Amino acid sequence: MSAESTATTSFGHVIDGEERGSLGNEHFASVDPWTREPWADVALGGAAEADLAVAAARRAFDEGPWPRMGLAERGALLHRLADLVESHADELARAESRDMGKPVADARDKDVPRTALNFRFFADHARLVTAETYPMDSGHHAYSRYEPVGVVAAIAPWNFPLMLESWKVAPALAWGNTVVLKPAEDTPATATILARLAVEAGLPPGVFNVVHGYGPGSAGEALTTDARVDRITFTGESGTGRAIAGAAARHLTPVSLELGGKGANLVFADADLDDAVDWSIKAIFSNAGQVCLAGSRLFVERPVLEEFTARFVAAAEALRVGDPAQESTQVGPLASQEHWRKVTGFLDEPGGKVLTGGRGDGWVVRPTVIVDAPLDARVHREEIFGPVVTVTPFDTEDEAVRLANDSPFGLNAMLFTENLSRAHRVSAALRAGTVWTNCFFVRDLRAPFGGVGDSGWGREGGTFSREFFTEPKACVMAVRA
Ligand code: NAD
Repeated sequence: MSAESTATTSFGHVIDGEERGSLGNEHFASVDPWTREPWADVALGGAAEADLAVAAARRAFDEGPWPRMGLAERGALLHRLADLVESHADELARAESRDMGKPVADARDKDVPRTALNFRFFADHARLVTAETYPMDSGHHAYSRYEPVGVVAAIAPWNFPLMLESWKVAPALAWGNTVVLKPAEDTPATATILARLAVEAGLPPGVFNVVHGYGPGSAGEALTTDARVDRITFTGESGTGRAIAGAAARHLTPVSLELGGKGANLVFADADLDDAVDWSIKAIFSNAGQVCLAGSRLFVERPVLEEFTARFVAAAEALRVGDPAQESTQVGPLASQEHWRKVTGFLDEPGGKVLTGGRGDGWVVRPTVIVDAPLDARVHREEIFGPVVTVTPFDTEDEAVRLANDSPFGLNAMLFTENLSRAHRVSAALRAGTVWTNCFFVRDLRAPFGGVGDSGWGREGGTFSREFFTEPKACVMAVRA
């Protein structure tokens, strides 16, 4: 991204309830990946701005009303923020679409409602969930308290900016913490808008801060090494996760890591093929494949390989690819030139036969289907994070499970079958944080979300988020006769 731009829209940091520029007045441009032109000027923060934001969050936690507020009052403010997210859906969706090329209809109809839901869900969850009591034979009585941890640093990726930021910010706030969010440098806009809305909703100054900047040697790294930060919640690449875990070790700051994936998608011969084709298309081509949960490795039982592949390719070719600002667009450009280079690098050495897809205009990659790729090919092993899928046959259930589990990642997997016992057997055998049968992307916000292996550490969602964003305390009382 260049430091200079002709863009007129601007987005600042939001620190202590005020939108502001950087101390040295540095800024960077957010580039619209469809026009490939800068569309917004953004304040560029570094260690100094991160320091200010953490200091504000620290003050708001140590001295402000937020952690001491009743759950109903705090929840009402988060519901008010959710109302404002809903009433600003168009503005948020357009900004997200311009920042990263996501089809505007997806941003407005999926990401923004889910963002509002994250705030509503965690506001209610914190109010309604119960703690434990432990009646003791000794005559003592023990109970648990879930207390806020303090300052939470949230570091987010660019693929579902608002949705993933709110997945971190909402539970952290609902449990009484204060937050410093560093959005990805490719998608800064909606974080600032969200923070403006938080001020409008009445969240006290310093409770929710946003600082823009890069990762290594910049605002991101500064947040991970700051002793005043009590938790780090990170979503992004596995390599970055390793760096953050290393940095956080300095102060033993607990970290949650939601990292990359290489989702296996198993289509058994007894599957409802209409369903399997429909979900498998969504699983790899939604958001131009820039989805950690993407079903990027398709394994198809040999008797239906030919029919499934033919129907899958036809459906891939029918997707409407193009300008994300158009309501009808289903697949937009990739989020940045750097990312487009990475994804097209895989196409230059597919290691198999490309049945359909390849480069489109500008930073577009058309839905791409690769067959006959060796199991050790890069397209098969590494996270491409684009609209590129490999299709590989299998002959037995055991082989399907073995192929699926043969990956360093373990975020999610899916299977299509009409055999109930097989669904249970395979769900249990797959090494993944989430397994979907005959569906994809369906979430219950109370259920654990996270991955195994290179896909991360820890789980978030419902009480799993409570575990991370609170300090459970045991209180033991003598009960006198
Ligand atoms: P990334 O790791 O490059 O960047 C993510 C964030 O980390 C950005 O805000 C970046 O500025 C920051 N960062 C980078 N280096 C840092 C450092 N050393 N210290 C502190 N902060 C640093 O990831 P990305 O390219 O933005 O996102 C794509 C990746 O995210 C993919 O691997 C995808 O699978 C993963 N992802 C995972 C999930 C999940 O829930 N498991 C969800 C979405 C995306």
